[in-house]
Amino acid sequence: MPDRLSPSAAGMWAQCPQRWWYRYVEGLPEPPPGEPAVLGTFVHRVLELLLDQPPADRTEATAKALARHVWEVTERSEDWQSLELDDAAARRFRQRAWSTLLAYFSHEEPESVRPVARELLVETEVGGVPFRGFIDLVETADDDAVVVTDYKTGLPPRPGKPWSEEQRAEKLLQPQWYAAALAALGDHVPTRARLLYFTALDGQTPGSFDLRTEELVVDTSPDALEPAVDELRRRWGAIGEALQTGHVDASPGPLCGWCPYVEHCSVGQDECRQRWDARNRVTGERRLRSDAPAVRVLGLVDDAGTPGVTVADPVVGSAVPMPEPAPMGR
Ligand code: SF4
Repeated sequence: MPDRLSPSAAGMWAQCPQRWWYRYVEGLPEPPPGEPAVLGTFVHRVLELLLDQPPADRTEATAKALARHVWEVTERSEDWQSLELDDAAARRFRQRAWSTLLAYFSHEEPESVRPVARELLVETEVGGVPFRGFIDLVETADDDAVVVTDYKTGLPPRPGKPWSEEQRAEKLLQPQWYAAALAALGDHVPTRARLLYFTALDGQTPGSFDLRTEELVVDTSPDALEPAVDELRRRWGAIGEALQTGHVDASPGPLCGWCPYVEHCSVGQDECRQRWDARNRVTGERRLRSDAPAVRVLGLVDDAGTPGVTVADPVVGSAVPMPEPAPMGR
């Protein structure tokens, strides 16, 4: 039995128990984090440093100086090296990272944030489950409520296409578990938890970005948290059962195309092949994107017989200025 459950492990279990098994029981290595994960780490670090500044100094100019500093560290990291980006793609990465920070500034006024803690490690029992995670931000709101915030630089819902209740509930579990853990530790009693999405998607014109933000907020009174805590308990119980019986089920779906263990998983391979062969009746597009890693792993080919892998065109130049790496002037 693992000695604790993290939100990412609990999320992976819900997505596909077989994937969780490969990762946490068989210990198969995960590939290095891709661009979105490296960008998320970069942005989280800049925001952490930004909120360390006195309120009046939490400006875009300060964020730019901090981004230069964090960029220098990022460039030396193994995760960055593993991306193997050429100059144009690296420049595009930095433009997107800075634009993601601009998306944050378009939604939040950092000078008015009253942080209680940033990147806070919470390690405690939640509903009897040993739990461990890092909270991006604990803050005091205008109404003196203690608010737990989780930043997300991934995709918010598309305009006009809100998430279903089920999707929304699944996404809110993580900040709810954080709130329950914080309450269990006893130093702060959170009143609300929020998921703050801010992201920079490719814009209509080359080099431009479409900034998107979304905020989901939930009440974190003990009664309101109970269903989330029950769900954590249920996943922990199911993990224990799987470890006792040595059996897990696979949950194939669209994410099989991005699963790092697809080469080991016959169920996932069948799913990917079916999706590759199926087409949307209206658009004619395949149900598995050609840039999904599984396409290359499984050797799927397009109608012309060429490997179904597309390489994004590196776009040089942007309307959004990105600071060049330079010593931080703090
Ligand atoms: S390939 Fe699909 S079914 Fe197989 S482990 Fe990965 S996510 Fe689960």
